[in-house]
Amino acid sequence: MASGARNGGGGLGSRTTAKMDRQQGSTATPKAPAGKPRLSAAGGGAYRRTSSGPLPAAGAGGGRNSSESGVSSRVRVAVRLRPRNAEEQAADADFADCVELQPELKRLKLRKNNWESDTFEFDEVLTEFSSQKRVYEVVAKPVVESVLEGYNGTVMAYGQTGTGKTFTLGRLGDEDTAARGIMVRAMEDILADITPETDTVSLSYLQQLYMEMIQDLLDPVNDNIAIVEDPRTGDVSLPGATVVEVRDQKSFMDLLRIGEAHRVAANTKLNTESSRSHAILMVNVRRAVKGRSEMNVSMSAENGHSSSMMDSLRPPIVRKSKLVVVDLAGSERIDKSGSEGHTLEEAKSINLSLSSLGKCINALAESSAHVPVRDSKLTRLLKDSFGGTARTSLVVTIGPSPRHRGETTSTIMFGQRAMKVQNMVKLKEEFDYKSLCRRLDIELDKLIAENERQRKYFDDEIERITAEAQYRVAEAEKECKVSLENEKMKYHQEYLDSIKILEEKWKVHQQSPKKQIKEESTSNGDVQDLLQNEKMLRQSAEDESNDLKNQLSHWKKMEV
Ligand code: ADP
Ligand code: MG
Repeated sequence: MASGARNGGGGLGSRTTAKMDRQQGSTATPKAPAGKPRLSAAGGGAYRRTSSGPLPAAGAGGGRNSSESGVSSRVRVAVRLRPRNAEEQAADADFADCVELQPELKRLKLRKNNWESDTFEFDEVLTEFSSQKRVYEVVAKPVVESVLEGYNGTVMAYGQTGTGKTFTLGRLGDEDTAARGIMVRAMEDILADITPETDTVSLSYLQQLYMEMIQDLLDPVNDNIAIVEDPRTGDVSLPGATVVEVRDQKSFMDLLRIGEAHRVAANTKLNTESSRSHAILMVNVRRAVKGRSEMNVSMSAENGHSSSMMDSLRPPIVRKSKLVVVDLAGSERIDKSGSEGHTLEEAKSINLSLSSLGKCINALAESSAHVPVRDSKLTRLLKDSFGGTARTSLVVTIGPSPRHRGETTSTIMFGQRAMKVQNMVKLKEEFDYKSLCRRLDIELDKLIAENERQRKYFDDEIERITAEAQYRVAEAEKECKVSLENEKMKYHQEYLDSIKILEEKWKVHQQSPKKQIKEESTSNGDVQDLLQNEKMLRQSAEDESNDLKNQLSHWKKMEV
């Protein structure tokens, strides 16, 4: 139930980013989940959903925030009349029933007196002869189908104690299979439709006792369960309640029996009547959506990643829907209940939540700006069922006795007001980041192990290569040393040899210049002597020639 203005997104889910509250279409029939045949259509033609439609095709503009608002869907209300019981047959034998039903017109006439009556229209009018199967099909089956498609759903019974609420919702049908109530039939359909390998169904079963206490019917010691509201999405949950996974119908029936036994025991202990407590069955359905890859497509297109890599990064899509079945406490007024003391307190408290529910429904029916959701735990719990995002079906139960005309009238009026409440049905679909995280964790662990293995191999290789290199270096060093030594020796020898040669040469050299100088000086002296001699010889020759010339000239002169 939404606080604040009606239909204002219900305050639920409208601000979420991770959630993909997907809008249903407007006219066609919703598709059954892939791979499973759709449950057969509801028997009562007029009690069909009018606002449901096909889901948008994968990736076809139906991205994360494609629909923040959902689709308007009115709360559906059926009225069911209980047949006269033995007491009424005796006591009211002379009186006509206070109501007259016209099921084909979906009308109920409430007799004021013998000649006057008020007429009311309902979505479905179920007579005292209506079978449990038919009641399930017109009241609950469309909601169950919706839950299986990923929408939240609520089925609720409202009416005076003894008019058949528990008969309608909670009969197990142990003794007569045709008597199975809505809870049992709903679970049969849910279990038949889900894929056990990928989908899970879990439930909690609670009752709201007097003094606004919520007790876990699967663990009755836990009798003060808190209602927690997600500040982001506005979704309410009961984290303290036992949640049991249901795999087959038998275990479900066992849980219902356990819950019922605890309900009776708790009420006996507290000296209360179970008709004064609200019983709430919460069935959580979590389904994997197969073959949808819009995020993958857009991400891989953006980044150009290979599809196999993207496959491992793509968060799976899950639909997490919830079916809430509420068997409300008797709606009769306290003064009529004849309660005293403790029981009166209890009745007051129960009536507080019921009257608070009535007020909320009035406010929603009148589109009032303020819906007093927070006035009671029941209305907080049913926040999503009235004015929220759930598909809601209400069955109001009445008895035929004219002695209870007042209660019957108020029940009918409650139903009439509830028919005016609009919900905004939204698909509860989201990316399953948790399972992606788990999957990536596993892959990360694998990679860590592989990395460790490779690192070890790498380290071993490095060690091996280092050892080999060191050995080779040592060998090479050794070889080098030897050859260097050899070279050194060789060059040393050569050095010594050349030194020797040089020394010899030097010695030779030392000796040879003196001799040469000597020889040279000797020859120089000889030449000078020779030159001197030559000079003298020439002089004497010149003198002689001059002498001879003189003699000759003398001789010539003389001759002359
Ligand atoms: P409530 O839960 O509203 O207090 P119950 O479901 O306990 O009422 O019904 C009171 C009695 O009336 C029960 O004995 C139940 O078997 C009987 N009863 C209720 N509805 C029907 C019905 N449609 N057909 C036959 N018996 C019914
Ligand atoms: Mg009951």
